[in-house]
Amino acid sequence: MSGGESIREILAREAAGGEATVRGWIRTARHSKGVSFLEVADGSCFAGLQVVVDPALENYEAELRPLGTGCAVAAMGELVDSPGKGQRFELRARRVEVVGTVDPDYPLQKKRHSFEFLRTLAHLRPRTNTIGAVLRVRNAASRAIHAFFQERGFIHLHSPIITASDAEGAGDMFRVSTLDPSNPPRDGEGRVDFGRDFFGREAYLTVSGQLEAEIAALALSRVYTFGPTFRAENSNTSRHLAEFWMVEPEMAFCDLAGDMDLAEAFLKQVFRSVLEQCPDDMAFFNQRIDDSVIATLTHVIETPFERITYGEAVEILERSGESFEFPVKWGADLQSEHERYLTEQHIRRPVIVTDYPAAIKAFYMYLNDDERTVRAMDVLVPKVGEIVGGSQREHRLDVLRRRMRDCGLPEERYGWYLDLRRYGSAPHAGFGLGFERVVQFMTGMANIRDVIPFPRVPGYVDF
Ligand code: ATP
Ligand code: MN
Repeated sequence: MSGGESIREILAREAAGGEATVRGWIRTARHSKGVSFLEVADGSCFAGLQVVVDPALENYEAELRPLGTGCAVAAMGELVDSPGKGQRFELRARRVEVVGTVDPDYPLQKKRHSFEFLRTLAHLRPRTNTIGAVLRVRNAASRAIHAFFQERGFIHLHSPIITASDAEGAGDMFRVSTLDPSNPPRDGEGRVDFGRDFFGREAYLTVSGQLEAEIAALALSRVYTFGPTFRAENSNTSRHLAEFWMVEPEMAFCDLAGDMDLAEAFLKQVFRSVLEQCPDDMAFFNQRIDDSVIATLTHVIETPFERITYGEAVEILERSGESFEFPVKWGADLQSEHERYLTEQHIRRPVIVTDYPAAIKAFYMYLNDDERTVRAMDVLVPKVGEIVGGSQREHRLDVLRRRMRDCGLPEERYGWYLDLRRYGSAPHAGFGLGFERVVQFMTGMANIRDVIPFPRVPGYVDF
């Protein structure tokens, strides 16, 4: 009992006629005198298949008439053209087997449920239209990301999940330890002795794969990571998770301009593929979640991204006459309201802002000749603001050392990072993209907790 045609495949048949078997879960059941209609979904696509059940079937009264939402069934019969609107085919059942019945307290009865409520049912919510569509879009986006890089010869690097380096404090980290929390070994001064912990030193869950990607890029030239990353920040927002997936390409012999070209081509191809692969899911999001998602994605795909420097962005904002909550001045980071003004009001399309002040960016970004700005870039898109952040990396040993000193970073901890600049250093650049933020952007889903199968946030790690 495996394989067989999925509903997606059945619906893609050229014409009606012939036998079909559908296995799935009942979305809705309507029983009337002369006939029952079961809408069966198997998750392979947004649509279900309508199964038409004749009361003359031998198990009808005993087994089929009681069927309702959530039951698992297998139905065999003839695929015919559907007279109903909104569906191409339906299945005229000759046999319907009840595979799994549903207890009367099934919580997902056919009615609208809030996303908050559905989060408490993470084991059942993939059966809802919305979460099913999210999971298919996630899958299509993930496939598009791999395809984009693989077509261009990037090597997929599996960066570690447990790490001892902290990626310059990209975020607060989760400790990985096997010490007994109620009775840890202590050193002479009474501090916990992590030298006796599992790894012989302190270890954490990674916040970014960038530093490892740099190592690999300086050997394999073009690499990318795509894996889980973790932030122990206590931010209860609709855009932050404690565990999320990140995509981080890194290219050797590449400068900031090459990095921007890659980011632009990347976003466009991922959006285009998802629209092509998941038209029904995307139509659903556009109809039920946010009526501008398809237009926005299409706009992003079709228009060239504007490129401006941070200095130009500050001038635009100062001249805008807008009253922002956070004041604009050279040297301060752009806030979400500023980013949205730039991309939504002023430029009206995606914009890449480059050359940020060194003081507000990480130590590893390439220092421009003006000594005040670094070769950083953020891609800003309507509605979410920053979607990609990247930079050309500092590959000059002396400058990197100076920047580390200015940032108060101890050289001993970054010996291997400096080695990369001592042994065959080369210009290189890359960027990072939060996968869930992209899925949010594509689907219009308001809360990031609803675009990942099992959200992990402060105070919540069920399932
Ligand atoms: P933010 O300002 O939104 O917290 P950040 O500046 O901390 O983001 P980075 O450290 O540059 O972000 O991380 C790279 C990308 O990872 C971000 O552009 C964003 O898309 C995503 N990201 C960062 N933190 C989270 C989080 N807690 N949950 C989900 N995605 C995140
Ligand atoms: Mn953050």
